[in-house]
Amino acid sequence: LGHQGTMAEKPDPVRWADIGGLQQAKDALEESAVWIYKHADAYQRLGIRPSKGVLLYGPPGTGKTLLAKAVATESSANFLPIKVPDLIKAEVGESEKALTAIFQTAVRCSPSVIFLDELEAVFSSRETSGDVGRKLISQFLIEMDQLNKGDHHVILLGATNHLEAIDPSIVCPGRLDRLVYIGPPTQDERLAILKVLAKTTRVNPATDLAHIAASTEGYTGADLKAVLRKAGLMALKRDESHEIELADLVLALTHVSPSLV
Ligand code: ATP
Repeated sequence: LGHQGTMAEKPDPVRWADIGGLQQAKDALEESAVWIYKHADAYQRLGIRPSKGVLLYGPPGTGKTLLAKAVATESSANFLPIKVPDLIKAEVGESEKALTAIFQTAVRCSPSVIFLDELEAVFSSRETSGDVGRKLISQFLIEMDQLNKGDHHVILLGATNHLEAIDPSIVCPGRLDRLVYIGPPTQDERLAILKVLAKTTRVNPATDLAHIAASTEGYTGADLKAVLRKAGLMALKRDESHEIELADLVLALTHVSPSLV
């Protein structure tokens, strides 16, 4: 791995099955981002130019990054994760250059998925984004237009916790034109997330995870991960078996508070 934006990576493979819940989001991404890779010939035959950009929005810790990684894995594409605030460079012109370099890398390593996280840091409405922001937005629009003209298999995924702040020009047709909401997990989704997390943690298989799912209103996937980590520490202190029991999880809930209330 090299400098951000100059190298693509094959991510630690996240598959759809590694993500609890979010079925609608998975379907939307499978349709708009993964099919393009799987059925490239059919698209070409039909003369359809599929959309190249999807914007994932919603509260933090709900699985947006996981979904982006899964899109890359499921379509056997390279993955270029970018934290948008890192694009801001001190020297004039360098920020735009960094953005261009990312798109060039994506084309060179195609098929590829560019993931622009924390989009609102720069791509907020033009009035509030300042000089660097305005220039980056313009450059982004140029790069997207170029991408749309070419036949490269490059998909752009953006993520933000603040959809209301995003500049409207970013979400126009031909840009990030498909919006997918990633909301707080429902009780069923929390159970699904707990089951996924339990696969890679030493949780006693008899543990009543449904009880935990029912007691975790307002907890995100990231919060549930923190709960399991805390429960793991408690199990470690408690006895030799080091297996997480229901009591450890219940106690861990008193230490980890929900981010969404
Ligand atoms: P942010 O907006 O803060 O970047 P995010 O929505 O991108 O957050 P992720 O980074 O994908 O959130 O999630 C953080 C961690 O929480 C993941 O690495 C994963 O371990 C866990 N997690 C979140 N959502 C899920 C989920 N639906 N299924 C399984 N694990 C999840």
